[in-house]
Amino acid sequence: MATDSLTVAAPNPWQIAQHQFDLAADRLGLDPGLRSVLREPRRELTVHFPVHMDDGSVEVFTGYRVQHNLGRGPAKGGIRYHQNVSLDEVKALAMWMTWKCAVVGIPYGGGKGGVIVDPTALSPREVEGLTRRFTTEISVLIGPDRDIPAPDVNTNAQTMAWIMDTYSMHVGYTVPGVVTGKPVALGGSEGRREATGRGVTFCLEAAAAARHEKLEGQRVVLQGFGNVGSYFADSVRHHGVKLIAIGDAFGAVTSEAGIDVERALAWAGEHGTIKDLPGTNEIDPAGLLELDCDILVPAALENQITDRNAHNIKAAIVAEAANGPTTPEADRILADKGVFLIPDVLCNAGGVTVSYFEWVQDFSSFFWSEDEINVRLDKIMVDALKKIWDTADRHKISLRTATFAVACERILSAREERGLYP
Ligand code: NAD
Repeated sequence: MATDSLTVAAPNPWQIAQHQFDLAADRLGLDPGLRSVLREPRRELTVHFPVHMDDGSVEVFTGYRVQHNLGRGPAKGGIRYHQNVSLDEVKALAMWMTWKCAVVGIPYGGGKGGVIVDPTALSPREVEGLTRRFTTEISVLIGPDRDIPAPDVNTNAQTMAWIMDTYSMHVGYTVPGVVTGKPVALGGSEGRREATGRGVTFCLEAAAAARHEKLEGQRVVLQGFGNVGSYFADSVRHHGVKLIAIGDAFGAVTSEAGIDVERALAWAGEHGTIKDLPGTNEIDPAGLLELDCDILVPAALENQITDRNAHNIKAAIVAEAANGPTTPEADRILADKGVFLIPDVLCNAGGVTVSYFEWVQDFSSFFWSEDEINVRLDKIMVDALKKIWDTADRHKISLRTATFAVACERILSAREERGLYP
């Protein structure tokens, strides 16, 4: 049985992911066999690998690739470069990918990877060297029908191009389907870059509709202005919302009149941060999430909404664009306050959905237009939202628990059909 609260000093993402799962498994009366299978990852690989630095020295880095569950298809999940990456973080992210792929009904299991590195302290050549050697180390696991990485924090289309090239050099022919989130010129998909942010906007529209409200005029606070946050800002502005504050790893800015998104995108593109954006006021990033607003969108890292700040959150809707931004204690506090929380595995599932489209296009070498991508993405998001909303309503459970219910039902049914080997 899950205990009522976590007793960890600092939030550990893996303990949180397992705790969330235990709470949902208790609530859903999950089959004990499936429960014990899903509580642990299927495979965990740790690698320590050398990289030539520009000054002629050799530095050894540590990285991970974790496959959480492969019952419904190959592992799918991003690769993160960050100084705080740990095996526990990667395990949690891999587990969340299992739920996410099942929730949107795409034929993948969950995986994730990461390297302990601050890539901003490396030259582009060093990042390329690190990426190519890390790819070599994890190539015992990855492959277009085994495990397919994608971008995550501090990795992007260029990183995916290097992974794809390295893998292809090893096998002796070009394998576009080994990664998603590649440049379009290499078999990437139209609309992939924008997909996660677009999906978040999509969920917000649905949440507003469920609350008999319009998005127009709502005041939004956004944490994180990278791939997810910036494309979210770009898509949500067409709904007439007012983006009153944005924060990133370097600072936070606010404007009561609303931040000009185009200007913010151009500034961040040029300076690598939102900090010092002209026409805005600097604020202490520590207070960003507690600003008075209607919608709060954490789009950076885990454990941003905790028992320390959840009581002070003013937003009526929290859209979890990041993975794992809310601790279980904070979850409870927000629920008690009546906050409408759109859980990460649903809210940011647009990215993996278009990754799936990219993979399908790579296999058939036949590419779709952005309009076709968006029509298909919208259909999958609508179906997933409806299913989660209905499940939550029917069982009087939170949207987060409903995502577990839907995911577990699909994973269980795959397991029943396959049986247990040997
Ligand atoms: P990114 O590296 O492109 O951007 C991360 C952003 O967060 C940057 O603006 C960075 O400055 C900011 N940030 C980092 N540390 C911060 C801190 N301590 N406080 C405030 N801001 C901070 O990464 P991304 O791809 O946009 O990913 C963001 C989140 O979305 C992650 O949780 C990731 O797992 C999740 N996600 C990403 C995708 C995707 O398609 N890229 C898909 C689903 C979920």
